[in-house]
Amino acid sequence: MIFGLTGGIGSGKTAVSDRFKALGIHIVDADIAARTVVEPGQPAWLDIKEFFGPDVLLEDQSLNRAWLRQQVFADNDNRKQLETFTHPRIRDEIIRDLSSSTSAYTLLVSPLLIESGQVVLVKKVIVVDVPEEAQLERTCSRDNNDAEQVKRIIAAQISREKRLAQANWVIDNSLPLETLDARVEALHQELLAVSQS
Ligand code: ATP
Repeated sequence: MIFGLTGGIGSGKTAVSDRFKALGIHIVDADIAARTVVEPGQPAWLDIKEFFGPDVLLEDQSLNRAWLRQQVFADNDNRKQLETFTHPRIRDEIIRDLSSSTSAYTLLVSPLLIESGQVVLVKKVIVVDVPEEAQLERTCSRDNNDAEQVKRIIAAQISREKRLAQANWVIDNSLPLETLDARVEALHQELLAVSQS
């Protein structure tokens, strides 16, 4: 059985999924799939190179993400085109990884689980939830991100209310990190029971 784990930027998805991993659960990370499909030589990389031209590549042939972000931000058609190249391949990569799982159940971790439609791949949804102020503070202190950029990302993601409305379980990650192990362990027992029923 596949469960989805989602949450806004800096909500604590990695903190939570690392704990499931330690319990032996196979984690499929949508962010990793998104990076894998645009590695040099991959079909999505070839399409992107052909459409956007040589400026889209850095010297080592990897994508110039900053440049590409500007093209997509400035022009909706560019964004749609990029999504046409990447989304079906990301989905295929996620499905490939999900089907390789041999653990009691599998977690699909995705910041855009709901927005991207990846939610159809999962049986039930776990939401890692914190107030926006915590998202902002934790993301800024983790990556030295500038607050305006993080605010823009939060605004572009689905709202906290809409995300929570999709949740079968909510992990309140405004609580201290020291309490997370026990709460993940308790949820793990529930997920084992659901996946065996
Ligand atoms: P992203 O969407 O950017 O990938 P994420 O949802 O995976 O982020 P994490 O990287 O797990 O979020 O957490 C963001 C930051 O907050 C990290 O530095 C992490 O150590 C810290 N953090 C996570 N949970 C807590 C907590 N309960 N209390 C305090 N800090 C926390």
